[in-house]
Amino acid sequence: MLELLDRKETELLELFSQNDLQRRIKEIAEQINNDFSNEEELYVISILKGAVLFSVDLVKSITIPSQIEFIRLASYGNDENSSGRVKPVDLSLPNLEGKNVLIVEDIIDTGLTMEFLVKYIKAQLKPKNLKIAVLLDKHCARTHHVDVDYVGFPIDNKFVVGYGLDYKGFYRNLPYIGYFPQ
Ligand code: 5GP
Repeated sequence: MLELLDRKETELLELFSQNDLQRRIKEIAEQINNDFSNEEELYVISILKGAVLFSVDLVKSITIPSQIEFIRLASYGNDENSSGRVKPVDLSLPNLEGKNVLIVEDIIDTGLTMEFLVKYIKAQLKPKNLKIAVLLDKHCARTHHVDVDYVGFPIDNKFVVGYGLDYKGFYRNLPYIGYFPQ
């Protein structure tokens, strides 16, 4: 009996299949390979926990010499809505001054998290070039402006789970993305 999980996987409606995701991620990686120089190292910053599956699959198709860093931010708690503030849980990063940096995020909703992170990295770490890759873009929910360089899929304003995205901490392990019908 699952005590913490009140919504079953069988209720989920699929939005993007495993194939859809893998195909699109390869396309994004190709764009990144074209946009960054092969002669300079790339620092890929993955935002835990949601972006972990996306970033792992993305870097497999990136051919530029890369280092992968993980940072942890929290804004949703256990809820289906943003808490309205960003909580840096672990922001430790190497020296990125003058480097090429790619932030990898699962989804942009209000834009609050990304706005916070971009401001922090630009001001504190001074990279030469900072680009952003997000798997899903809920553009209609945006309240904070962010310039995103690579978008997997634009989506409507629904709460999605799977492929890194959680519901109450669960379902991150699903290889596809879906949503619970209202
Ligand atoms: P933002 O700061 O842009 O409002 O929200 C960013 C974070 O909220 C994402 O990194 C993600 O963790 C969480 N989030 C936003 N929308 C969804 C969603 O539809 N499903 C899940 N599981 N998390 C979401």
